[in-house]
Amino acid sequence: MTQSHRLAGDLLQFNVSQLLKERTEASRKYNIENAVITVDDLGLVLTAPLRGTVRLVKAAGDVLVTGTLSTTLQLPCTRCLEPVEVPVTVEIEETFIPITDVATGMHLSLPEDVDDTTLIDEAHILDLTEVVRQELYVSQPNQVLCREDCLGLCPRCGQNLNFGACTCDVSEVDSRWSALLALKDNW
Ligand SMILES: [Zn+2]
Ligand SMILES: [Zn+2]
Repeated sequence: MTQSHRLAGDLLQFNVSQLLKERTEASRKYNIENAVITVDDLGLVLTAPLRGTVRLVKAAGDVLVTGTLSTTLQLPCTRCLEPVEVPVTVEIEETFIPITDVATGMHLSLPEDVDDTTLIDEAHILDLTEVVRQELYVSQPNQVLCREDCLGLCPRCGQNLNFGACTCDVSEVDSRWSALLALKDNW
């Protein structure tokens, strides 16, 4: 059983009410030292807080967010399923759209196909959580190995062969194969 790690840390939320009042190209840079997001529902386990930098730049009517965040994911070894700590880095580049006008408080009309994970709410909070969650999900490597020469599990009894050989008689499988091959030769 994998333990669910509960890390404590900051949220990936930024109040942009001041930034939205500034001129185009005004910016903010944040050093992220210890941010934490929920990823259990994606089947992921974070074993380190997110660290990196996030930059917000005001554009005409929206905010461009760029950044790099690193953390560690705990993933099962592709061969033996033992947990492996895998460092990952995600790059972010997203445009966030305010749903209300910061000066008047009026609701702004949003594009038809708007992505609700990249909206700045009525309180002018830009929440990067969902974007980072999705990036972490796709950042998982296809293959994870606990070590280069991981021996994997016995296909028969499931024993982790890194901890020693099992007692399965693999020669039986071999002899059946050779019988089949012999048959094939006679065709
Ligand atoms: Zn392994
Ligand atoms: Zn076995």
